[in-house]
Order: sequence, then C-alpha cells, then structure tokens
Amino acid sequence: MHELSLCQAIADTAVANADGRDVERIRLRIGHFRQVVPETLQSCWRMRRSDGPLARCELDVEYVPATIECRTCGSTTTLDQPLLRCGACDGTDVALVSGDEFLIVSIDVTSALASEEVN
Ligand SMILES: [Zn+2]
Repeated sequence: MHELSLCQAIADTAVANADGRDVERIRLRIGHFRQVVPETLQSCWRMRRSDGPLARCELDVEYVPATIECRTCGSTTTLDQPLLRCGACDGTDVALVSGDEFLIVSIDVTSALASEEVN
C-alpha cells in the first residue's frame, strides 16, 4: 500500500531526528499529485506508530493543490485531475508549479522547547 510505505518513510525520518526523544507531532506537506488518501494515511499511521517514540505522535498534514502555469497564455490554474492541461486556454505547454510536494515540515519532540525544522 502506497500510504503504508509513506508512513514508514515518515516514521524512519522522525525517529532519526528525534534522537531518542518521544515525538508528539509531525507536520507534513503533501501535494495533490502524490495521490495520498487522507483517511488511509491516518489509519496507516495509527497502525505504524503503535510502539516506541512515536506511540502518541499525531500527523498534521497540509494538502497542497496541483497548480500549473501555462507558457502559452500565462495563466496559473489548479488541477483536479493529474492531467497537465491549461485550465484557461486548454494548452498543453505547461509547467508544474505545485502538487508534487512530499515534505516533512517539522517534528515536535517532548523534551525540546521548540520544534525542529527538517530540511
Ligand atoms: Zn493557457
């Protein structure tokens, strides 16, 4: 399952960054093109976090819409489908602006005063 492997990657990164501390919250940014189902991601996470430093950790996910910029007419439009076509002129000479993100924005650990930024 796609979401399960994402959760594994998130967990590995969080544990590596937590350095033995408990993790309370992980903030993520996921683009539309990643085709992640929010409910599935959360239920996979609840299975995956079952023990260790992630036992009480919540996922805080910001979903980013897919946005493209058209080189023909200059419009920036948002896509519902993963189909690269301008929403204004129907042109196909477009550049992806957003929608391919998969970022861990921050990881909050129990004993730290501030959350740690992850690059
Ligand atoms: Zn256009």
